[in-house]
Amino acid sequence: MALTFKGGTHVREYKNTRGSAIEAMPAPPTVSIAMSQHIGLHCKPVVAVGDHVYYGQVIGRVEGGLGCPVHASVSGTVQKIENRYNAMGVPVAHIVIENDEQYTPDPAIKPWPKPLEETTPDEIVGLLQEAGIAGMGGATFPTHAKLRSAIGRVDTMIINCAECEPFITANHRVMLERPDEIIGGARVLLHALGLKQAVIGVENNKMDAVEVLRQHAGDDIRVEVLKTKYPQGDERQLIFAVTGRELPPGKLPADLGCVIFNAETTAAVWHAFYRGMPLVRRVVTVDGDCVAHPKNLLVNLGTSYRDLINYCGGLVKDPAKIVNGGPMMGFAQWDMDGPVTKGTSAILVLSQKFCDYGKSGQPATCLRCGRCVKNCPMHLMPNMLVQLSLHRRYHDAADYNVMSCVECGTCSYNCPGQMPIVQYIRVAKGAIRAEQAAARARAVEQSLDKKTQGGDKS
Ligand code: SF4
Ligand code: SF4
Repeated sequence: MALTFKGGTHVREYKNTRGSAIEAMPAPPTVSIAMSQHIGLHCKPVVAVGDHVYYGQVIGRVEGGLGCPVHASVSGTVQKIENRYNAMGVPVAHIVIENDEQYTPDPAIKPWPKPLEETTPDEIVGLLQEAGIAGMGGATFPTHAKLRSAIGRVDTMIINCAECEPFITANHRVMLERPDEIIGGARVLLHALGLKQAVIGVENNKMDAVEVLRQHAGDDIRVEVLKTKYPQGDERQLIFAVTGRELPPGKLPADLGCVIFNAETTAAVWHAFYRGMPLVRRVVTVDGDCVAHPKNLLVNLGTSYRDLINYCGGLVKDPAKIVNGGPMMGFAQWDMDGPVTKGTSAILVLSQKFCDYGKSGQPATCLRCGRCVKNCPMHLMPNMLVQLSLHRRYHDAADYNVMSCVECGTCSYNCPGQMPIVQYIRVAKGAIRAEQAAARARAVEQSLDKKTQGGDKS
């Protein structure tokens, strides 16, 4: 029987590219590498304009704090370093590299010199950090930090192969075409965690991948079939489906003894350990009804959306929206020249037909049908949260656990009143975060004042 969670919804799949084998796209003449492709601190460039860089060379590093380095995805010359807006609208330094098309590898790139059995957990954490691996499902949490915090604390490791967002089939193709990399990467992580078995969770709309993974897995890998339901790939829902454990608000998977890695992230771990390759390429689904020939492409990081779309034959319709990620949780983009980063699983170019949400001519209104409450996988009351946000009662929204909302969009998707529920929730969350940040700043100021006064007395 397929495992599942409470709530959620079956969204229309649009997995048009499920049969499209991964195609390696040649890198463009220039790539633009963002200095922040992960959760945490931005990297600082460690190269200058005019420098020659190797393929896979570190070009940006985080100084202290959470983060991981970024690497050149081509060899060539640093053309410029400039601030650009990232997919979320945040200004981030980008290093633009002119591709010399030689792909001369960094001489530092070497497979790990010891067998896995002789490698310590600390060494694995260190090599994943140096390889710049961050969660490739979209969350982009630095993998080395996740692994380090899980060592000695977890009894269950899950490889997330749910891929529950419509359109996206990148992980599906990696499972079919590179199962040994997922399984080999899972073994590296298992070794670091000191665990005996990993669980791979795959939705039952990808039974061909289940078969392939089972053929390649040994006793140390258990492949579980999950019910196709959105948002099955959310960490909380996946943990519940696989273990029956429910993650309380504010807690992390490791608090429940679980750690989760995305399918392609796990394959990247394999590349780092067995090939010494840092994360410089990833698979991206390019789809949407405006794209002439939708594909799954293996892409050098820093390739622009425009390059991807042109490689797929260009546009056949006027686009209404370009989305980085899936249609449920992705971010609408305004710049075709935005670059692929470690978290870019898809670029979707959608016509107006997919964007008519809230444009029926009727004002958005709550019909009190309760569908949003019934389907919320976090067991929230989205209709109530909307009202509290509308009336700026953010403290009350916090009492109703608005911060637990994972912004999956299930409520908006099912709302017959066309309420932009997630947008209202984001407003409330943003206001609460801003207030918390202001309170922290005040506390720091007060403590500095006290220290200064103490200094004056002495
Ligand atoms: S689904 Fe929409 S209309 Fe129904 S209760 Fe929720 S907000 Fe109101
Ligand atoms: S309230 Fe948040 S978690 Fe619940 S369905 Fe809506 S977006 Fe998802």
